[in-house]
Amino acid sequence: MPGATALVSHPACALHDTGWSHPEHQGRLPAIVKALYRQTPDLQEHVLQVEGSAAEVADLLRVHTASHIETVRAAVDRAAARGHPVDLTLDTIVSGASWDAAMAAAGSAITATRLVLDDGGPSTAFVLSRPPGHHATASRPMGFCLFNNIAVAARWAREEAGLDRVLIIDWDVHHGNGTQDIFLHDPSVYYLSLHLSGHYPGTGHDHETGIGAGKGTTRNVPLAPGVDREYYLEVFGQALEGATTSFDADLVLVSAGFDCLAGDPLGGLLLEPSDLHVMTRAIMEAAERAAHGRVVALLEGGYVPDRVGQGVVQVIRAFAGLPGGILAGNGR
Ligand SMILES: [Zn+2]
Repeated sequence: MPGATALVSHPACALHDTGWSHPEHQGRLPAIVKALYRQTPDLQEHVLQVEGSAAEVADLLRVHTASHIETVRAAVDRAAARGHPVDLTLDTIVSGASWDAAMAAAGSAITATRLVLDDGGPSTAFVLSRPPGHHATASRPMGFCLFNNIAVAARWAREEAGLDRVLIIDWDVHHGNGTQDIFLHDPSVYYLSLHLSGHYPGTGHDHETGIGAGKGTTRNVPLAPGVDREYYLEVFGQALEGATTSFDADLVLVSAGFDCLAGDPLGGLLLEPSDLHVMTRAIMEAAERAAHGRVVALLEGGYVPDRVGQGVVQVIRAFAGLPGGILAGNGR
């Protein structure tokens, strides 16, 4: 079908319970599904729904240390024994359902990557999963993230699918310190992040450009609070152009955080959902030139569930070749 894209999800992701007072709560995925459901007349011909496969521990070990994986598993076992969520770090909480959720989130990222690499399959995919991943380092869960889903997908693409180069674009309002750290020395994975300057987790300065063999394949674009949308889009376009001209990627992965939207309680940027359509189109065009059009976007942050839903709709509309812009009754 023309313009077909894949939506990859797994029911276990919805069960990761951090408590309703936590920003990354169980209401996020249902709100996104509701927003997508309202788009059924437009999307039904274009979106292939796929259930992700759970990751294996071996998939995590391409990125994380064994002790990191054991720390998460032990905390989940503790939560299951107590019958309520427990704190893994100050802000990262797990419940008895979180192991299955985390394995489903990491595995769905691989499923989506496998799909876009298959001949004859869709060339784009959106992964609707939680917990998010881009703050998790090789050895440490943090910032609501247990395992670094996008890093797991990138390493799978390199080591199992045999790709030479993967470009990761991170538009979450927060710097993806975990992803940067994992690939800091690695010239085969280019990490580009646009994020709010001076914000959590405090990394992502423009002088952080990679180390050793990885020098030049990390690019950070910190932005001042409240920069206007036109400026953001201009800077985004330039950074994307810079990344794709200097790095010949075989696959593009996107850490799609929707806390870059105006009004996010953990944000400070002013983007609207329609801007994400523009950005997704720009990424698709760049991928068309360099990466056979292969783009996988993964849900990261975004803490006003209805707004996140509007944002996801715009990304999927772009993937499906449908116009963006104002959606009736659905905000911009
Ligand atoms: Zn974020």
